[in-house]
Amino acid sequence: MTRKFNFSAGPAALPEAVLKQAQAELLDWHGEGLSIMEMSHRSAEYIGVAAQAEQDLRELMQIPDNYKVLFLQGGATAQFAMVPMNLLRGATSADYINTGVWSGKAIKEAQRYTQVNIAASTEGNSFTSAPAQSELVLNPEAAYLHYTTNETIGGVEFDYIPDAGDVPLVADMSSDILSAPVDVSRFGLIYAGAQKNIGPAGLTVVIVREDLIGSTLAGTPTMYDYKVHADADSMNNTPPTFGWYLAGLVFQWLKQQGGLEAIAAQNRRKAGKLYAAIDGSDFYANPVAVANRSIMNVPFTLADSRLDARFLELAEAEGLLNLKGHRSVGGMRASIYNAVPEAAVDALIDFMQRFEKEQA
Ligand SMILES: *Cc1c(COP(=O)(O)O)cnc(C)c1O
Repeated sequence: MTRKFNFSAGPAALPEAVLKQAQAELLDWHGEGLSIMEMSHRSAEYIGVAAQAEQDLRELMQIPDNYKVLFLQGGATAQFAMVPMNLLRGATSADYINTGVWSGKAIKEAQRYTQVNIAASTEGNSFTSAPAQSELVLNPEAAYLHYTTNETIGGVEFDYIPDAGDVPLVADMSSDILSAPVDVSRFGLIYAGAQKNIGPAGLTVVIVREDLIGSTLAGTPTMYDYKVHADADSMNNTPPTFGWYLAGLVFQWLKQQGGLEAIAAQNRRKAGKLYAAIDGSDFYANPVAVANRSIMNVPFTLADSRLDARFLELAEAEGLLNLKGHRSVGGMRASIYNAVPEAAVDALIDFMQRFEKEQA
């Protein structure tokens, strides 16, 4: 068996060591004679696994004690509705920063529940940068300010944490959570679908300041109430047990890598090399403002888009998978999450340079 290099944007690569551990304990978890998937979520064994995963995430991200950590379902997309349903708390509007496809979807969903003020939008430059703090038009009466720390499709990442004063800051961190240390205390709420940088699809992690929960919009479904999940340790109903377990293995793997400082240094090195290769050639291009280039998702175009299909075909033949860009931007995209080894980036750069020479 040879594992190939997977540059998928999500569901994405998982650490090989984690997959091997899951494989080794799949049939018989810790001598219990059954798989973790077949175990009651109410059993002492499973509750131990779940609690350890939360503990490890708290340690990795240094999450303060006044924050709840929730393990939910419905993806980041369910959070687009859950955030306004729970955080409006009587306010009549919320501020949103529009930096691309994902923030656009969050805005559209929030508009079903409240008035949305666009604090800033980079649509004018085709979403190739993040707005500066000085460009944000903030409403002090807003229920919260929402933004997307990393636009997975456009490859645009904020290089600072917006300051919204006393207005709680809400972040969709689906594609850059755990890629670098972040000061959680600056946020009211952080959410992330697991399938980029945490674990398998089907799990969503929410980190929320506890004073913000407990007052939902009338008609909010029980399963969309953060307080219900917080009070039940995310076991109000059957949680996504396997995803939660696997996320726990990823958190342990991250600790073994030296934690978020160490993984951030690796991520910066990986992304730095790839952008240098793109910038050093007239054949490849990336349109994003240098300060806002994502260290997780690197979109790039070929000088002649008629070569795209050939590029993808040859890349795949060399074991470089899932490099096709999102249909909305075209070209290529290399997603280089935590679990994508530096050797994958080296192999991609080597391939890109050979491909360019062959076209000359
Ligand atoms: C993938 C992604 C989403 C959507 O996640 P789902 O889990 O599919 O709902 C939302 N926001 C960002 C930034 C993403 O990368």
